Amino acid sequence: MIIPAGLISQKSFREADWWRREGDGVRCTLCPHVCFLSPGETGRCGVRIHMEGEGLRSLSYGMVSSLAMDPIEKKPLYHWKPGTRILSFGSVGCSMRCPFCQNWKLAECAPSVPLRRISPEEPALLAQRHGAPSVAFTYNEPLTWFEFLLDSCTFLSEFKIPAVLVSNGMINADPLDQLLPQVAAANIDLKAFTAEAYRFLGGELETVKRTIQTLLNAGKHVEVTFLLVPRINEEIPAFTEMTAWLASLDPAPVLHISRYFPNREWREPATPPERIREFEVIAKERLPWVYPGNIDGDIVTRCRNCGGVLLLRHRYSVLQNNVTSDGRCAFCSSPSPIIL
Ligand code: SF4
Repeated sequence: MIIPAGLISQKSFREADWWRREGDGVRCTLCPHVCFLSPGETGRCGVRIHMEGEGLRSLSYGMVSSLAMDPIEKKPLYHWKPGTRILSFGSVGCSMRCPFCQNWKLAECAPSVPLRRISPEEPALLAQRHGAPSVAFTYNEPLTWFEFLLDSCTFLSEFKIPAVLVSNGMINADPLDQLLPQVAAANIDLKAFTAEAYRFLGGELETVKRTIQTLLNAGKHVEVTFLLVPRINEEIPAFTEMTAWLASLDPAPVLHISRYFPNREWREPATPPERIREFEVIAKERLPWVYPGNIDGDIVTRCRNCGGVLLLRHRYSVLQNNVTSDGRCAFCSSPSPIIL
């Protein structure tokens, strides 16, 4: 049995949700990989294991690798509770394998990652103790932490603390339906817009599209991040098609176009800032709210009625906030897209 080193200290593992027996093996039905696991095998995410006689178990339940109070702009969420802090939790494991991953040690459950066990009440208790108005599940892929996410969200909703997902969107329809009532807002990575590019990254485009659409249909606040990576997703026709698809959604989500930096095994130089600007111009032909990410300079949200500055940000700080408490432009009183 291969259990990632940092997870070995657990005495027992919580039974996973979303699996079934198939002969001597089990099939995990949480994400579109639907891994078939013989006894002792872990799934592609590295954190769900078939324990003989016990079925599918979650190795990462309650195991925290990262915990920080972040500005919400760092998630990034630009139109939801701007200028607030968000208590952010991460574990280990990921359902994709992007060669440029910025958090690859967490994704791979690297032995050097220290892990601490917490109970599902702790996100809510810590958020309350430190006055955090919301909690994020982020850093690694939180959907592979499904059972802990759900249990934590039960306590968060008791405390009326909204939960945020920062995710690759790789989840099957039924488990997403189960999670949906617990999530207030999400930032979903849309890493490319061809099935081929997604296959190369170990994901599935149609699933990610369905996740974005389902969240929006359920009235959740959704922002989308597109990391522009040389030799991965630079083709302008595919990007244009992506912006057209996003624009067809109701409401069209906020789009962040972020600069990549070399990491893991991807050695292409960092995306030039002018390339980000070029893609920003293309996206703005169809989408109302487009922001550059990981580049210097002020980021402004303007009122679409009077042009006044609703929000002025620098890096992760909000320098000006001209949105009234009922979500209107302070200059002309027209409705703003900002949720306070
Ligand atoms: S969640 Fe993990 S084990 Fe389950 S199907 Fe996806 S990659 Fe496989």
